[in-house]
Amino acid sequence: CGIVAAVASTDVVGVLVQGLQRLEYRGYDSCGLAVHRGAPLSGEPLGAAAPRGLVRARSTARVAELMGQVRAEGLRAATGIAHTRWATHGAPAVHNAHPHFSHGPGADAAGRAPRVALVHNGIIENHEALRAELQARGYVFESQTDTEVIAHLIDSLYDGDLLEAVRAATARLHGAYAIAVLHHDEPQRVVGARAGSPLVLGIGAEADGPAAHYLASDALALADVTNRIVFLAEGDLVDVSLGRYRIVGADGRALDAAARPVKTVQ
Ligand code: GLU
Repeated sequence: CGIVAAVASTDVVGVLVQGLQRLEYRGYDSCGLAVHRGAPLSGEPLGAAAPRGLVRARSTARVAELMGQVRAEGLRAATGIAHTRWATHGAPAVHNAHPHFSHGPGADAAGRAPRVALVHNGIIENHEALRAELQARGYVFESQTDTEVIAHLIDSLYDGDLLEAVRAATARLHGAYAIAVLHHDEPQRVVGARAGSPLVLGIGAEADGPAAHYLASDALALADVTNRIVFLAEGDLVDVSLGRYRIVGADGRALDAAARPVKTVQ
C-alpha cells in the first residue's frame, strides 16, 4: 500500500515513521520497517555491541505503535525501508507484514543473519510458480504473501551487486510492483524498482555532507524532508547510495538527468 525508504548519514528511523504516518489516511492493515545497522551514523562510532546487519519491526496496530516499538528498542540507523500493507495474499498478521527477509536457502536458514529485506506494493501474478521453484532450491517461506518470493529470488540471484540482482529478479516477475530492497553486504544502498505501481525518488539537501536520498510510493510521504522529486517511469530501477543516485531502464542502461528531471513539488 505505502513505501518509504531512506539512505542518509544520520538516523532515518524518524523519517521512515513520519513518512508512513503521512500515508496512513490511505488505509492499511499492518506496517513495518527494516534498517541496516552497518552504516555509520555521522559523528558517532559504530556501536560495538549492536548487531550490524538487517533488523526489522512489524505491527498490525497503528504506525504510532510501530514507533513505540522502535523507540523502546532504541533503534537508530542511517539506511532503511518502511511499509504500510493492504493485504492481497496472506491474512493481515505480523508474519505477513513487510519488510520480508530472505536468510538464504537451507532448512537452518532462519538461524542465520538475514541477507535481503524488501517492501512491496502491488501483486505478483506468478508467485506460485516462483515459490515452487525457490522451495525446490531450498528456500523456506515464513509468510503466505506473494511478496516473499521476490526477497528469495533476489537472494538467489545476488552476486555482489544489489542493482544487478534486482534487475534480474524483476525481469522474472509478472504483475504490478513497486519495491525497495536492502542487502546485508551493502549497508549504504537501497535499490528500488517499479512497474504498475508508483515510486518516486526524493533528493535531500546537502547541508554539511552528502545529501540524503529517499524513495516513496507518493511524494507526499517525503514532504517533511524534501520537495525535490524525480518521478520514476514504468520499468525504471533506481540505485540509491549515500550522496548519489542512478536511474537505469529495464535494459540496465543509465538514464540521464534530462530523461528523468528533478522537479520541485508544491
Ligand atoms: N501483495 C502484497 C501483500 O499482500 C502487497 C500488498 C500491498 O500493496 O500493500 O503483502
